[in-house]
Amino acid sequence: MAKILCVLFDDPVPGYPPEYPRDEIPTISDYPDGQKAPTPNAIDFTPGQLLGSVSGELGLRKFLEGAGHELVVTSDKDGTDSEFEKHLVDADVVISQPFWPAYLTAERIEKAKNLKLAITAGIGSDHVDLEGAMKNGITVAEVTYCNSISVAEHVVMMILGLVRNYIPSHQIVTDGGWNIADAVSREYDLEGMQVGTVAAGRIGLAVLRRLAPFDVGLHYTDRHRLPKEVEEELNLTFHETPQEMVPQCDVVTINAPLHPETEHLFDDEMIASMKRGTYLINTARGKICDRDAIVRGLESGQLAGYAGDVWFPQPAPQDHPWRTMPHEGMTPHTSGASLSAQTRYAAGTREILECFFDEKPIRDEYLIVDGGELAGTGAHSYSEGDATKGSEEAAEFKR
Ligand code: NDP
Repeated sequence: MAKILCVLFDDPVPGYPPEYPRDEIPTISDYPDGQKAPTPNAIDFTPGQLLGSVSGELGLRKFLEGAGHELVVTSDKDGTDSEFEKHLVDADVVISQPFWPAYLTAERIEKAKNLKLAITAGIGSDHVDLEGAMKNGITVAEVTYCNSISVAEHVVMMILGLVRNYIPSHQIVTDGGWNIADAVSREYDLEGMQVGTVAAGRIGLAVLRRLAPFDVGLHYTDRHRLPKEVEEELNLTFHETPQEMVPQCDVVTINAPLHPETEHLFDDEMIASMKRGTYLINTARGKICDRDAIVRGLESGQLAGYAGDVWFPQPAPQDHPWRTMPHEGMTPHTSGASLSAQTRYAAGTREILECFFDEKPIRDEYLIVDGGELAGTGAHSYSEGDATKGSEEAAEFKR
């Protein structure tokens, strides 16, 4: 019997939803590159239900308890007195979503003597000290591709929202006003602008594809170059480095994982190298940007707007300056947590657990760390190291 410790975000304030705005969600069985969507043997939930909150339990209880395992679900994840730390000491498997990450720091890994598997129900395993996982023989797996398109849609929304000044204009009508001049004095068309993505992996490429019909110039930088046919089809300009790309752009979107190479990539120096009035969209990870450099960039006008849904740490403390900085279009970490995406990452989590219990190999594309080294997608997209430092500050949210 194994103990599975699952950390999920809190239920909605009014309670777990008795009904939803829609009765169904589209069935996605294949992703754009041909990868299969999750293929668990069965699921015990209705697609489209809220699964990522505590009462949703990722739809796992019947499956796990039916097989004789113990499932502990909690949202209390930060601080040494948290439920997470209490149960971590004898947990075999930890499951957590990047939206409400259970930070698995070196100290916590040290306490988790039984831990064999850390599953990210989503994409992005930077909340796990990957170096610590490698040293301690812990497998780290995520549900690759489950919400890449969800995020790409959010990125396009945020680019348009910033460039067209949507949020302040909407505020004017809810405030009872009709101040057209106030609204449009920061509003532009996206058409003709130069848009660049830092990383053209699953999300970055999907963003490029979705933006192509807007008649913009498309740029990208990545560690590996896209196939020539894709570059030609989308008329892409490749840049060897982010430093080379960003001065050419009016809009920059960040779509790389957080790892030592990308941590604080967008600092004062990088922002100073951009055109005055660049829009920056970051739905990748908060720590890829230097928190205070973003605020300075917006205050000085070097950045015309910043939007994203990723913060560091998460949840962001009440006084995090990105909550109140000018010209921001921030949301809590929601882009990859749509009900549509939850269906896929809950099914993918179950698929990973089925493999683990049946001692079958976990799909290579789901692996980040395995056998003491970066593996699968981890070996392709990450570098060795630990990006969890400073995550203790997440406990501040409760205070
Ligand atoms: P992929 O693995 O498909 O793409 C990541 C890309 O980043 C790869 O092409 C990789 O390059 C590239 N990359 C890695 N390091 C660098 C670097 N130093 N410079 C330039 N490019 C780099 O993942 P996804 O596109 O699906 O997701 C990307 C990230 O987005 C996730 O890791 C996660 O942090 C974030 N995310 C956020 C979500 C949200 O809800 N906000 C949800 C899902 C993901 P290569 O492989 O060629 O080396």
